[in-house]
Amino acid sequence: MSYEGKMLKDLAMPSRKKVEEALLKTLFKHNGVIKEFATGEEIVNEIADEFILNKNQRTAVLERIYRKENRIVKTPLWHRLLYRAADSLAKENLVSRPTSTILLTNKKEWMLTENGLDEALKILNIPKTQKEFLPTKSFEVQKIVKKLIETPRPANYNPFDKEKKVAKVTRESTIRTRGFRQAVIEAYDYKCAFCGMKIKTPDSLLWEVEAAHIVPNSEKGKDDIFNGLSLCHLHHWAFDAGWFTLQDDYKIQVSLKVNSLPSDFGRMGDYDFIRALSNKNSKMLLPKRKEIYPHQNAISWHRENKFFT
Ligand SMILES: [Zn+2]
Repeated sequence: MSYEGKMLKDLAMPSRKKVEEALLKTLFKHNGVIKEFATGEEIVNEIADEFILNKNQRTAVLERIYRKENRIVKTPLWHRLLYRAADSLAKENLVSRPTSTILLTNKKEWMLTENGLDEALKILNIPKTQKEFLPTKSFEVQKIVKKLIETPRPANYNPFDKEKKVAKVTRESTIRTRGFRQAVIEAYDYKCAFCGMKIKTPDSLLWEVEAAHIVPNSEKGKDDIFNGLSLCHLHHWAFDAGWFTLQDDYKIQVSLKVNSLPSDFGRMGDYDFIRALSNKNSKMLLPKRKEIYPHQNAISWHRENKFFT
C-alpha cells in the first residue's frame, strides 16, 4: 500500500467515492460552482463538516519528496482527497476543471456540467423536470449565457427567430431556454424590472422572478438578452396581457383602460400593482451595462401589438 493509501486508511478518511458524492451535493447547494480547494477556503471546511472529520483528519499533512528539485512538498491530506475526487469527477465529465471554468466566468472554480447536474439531482431525489426552474449553473448553460451577454448590440435588431420551433423540446432547446433565463435574471440582479421585488426560497433553490420575452415565445420572439426582461409573476402576467408597455427611453406606460376597472381590482391592501407604475416618470430598472438593455425594436413591437389602448 502506498504511503498516501496507508495514511488515508490509518486516519479512517472517507472513501473517494463518498467524497465525490458529497462534492456533487455541495456543488448543487452552491448553485453549481465551488472554489478551488485552497487552504482557508470555506468550502474545504464545509465538506469536512459534512463528514464530521476530526481535527487529525482535517490537519494531517502528506509529505512528498520532489526528487527532481530535491525538496519536500507538504499537502494537507484532506485537500488532496478533495482534489482527487474532483479530478475524478472531471474525468467522468461531471464537473469542469477550474482551468476551463475560468475561460467562461473569469473565476477559478469547479462547475457542474449538465451530466453532473443530472447526477446531483439523482442523488438528491429531485426530478429532472425541475431543472428548468432551478438557478443552478452548468458549464453548458453558462456557455450560452456568455454568448448572450457578449453579443454586440445590433443597431437594426430583429426580435423574431423565424427558425424557432416553439413546440419541440429537445436537450438543446432546454439548455438554450435555461441560458436565456439565467442571462436575463442575472442581468437584472434577480429583481423585477418594474417593481424591484427580489425574493427566493429559503433553501435558495428558486427565485420568484421570471425571464419574460418582450416579443413573446408564441410569436417566435428571440431567446436573447435584447428581447428579455426580468419580471415578477404579477408584472410578467400584466405585461403579457398588455396592461403596460415601455417607451423607447424605458419609461413605463400604463394603459388608460385601467381607469375603467373597478378601483378594488389589482389591489393588495394599499398596493396597486398596475396603478403604482402609472407615475409619469417611472422608469424600469435596467442592467448595469447599456449594451444589454432591451432593444427598442422589441419594445416598439410590444407597444404596437400588445399594449391595451
Ligand atoms: Zn414586479
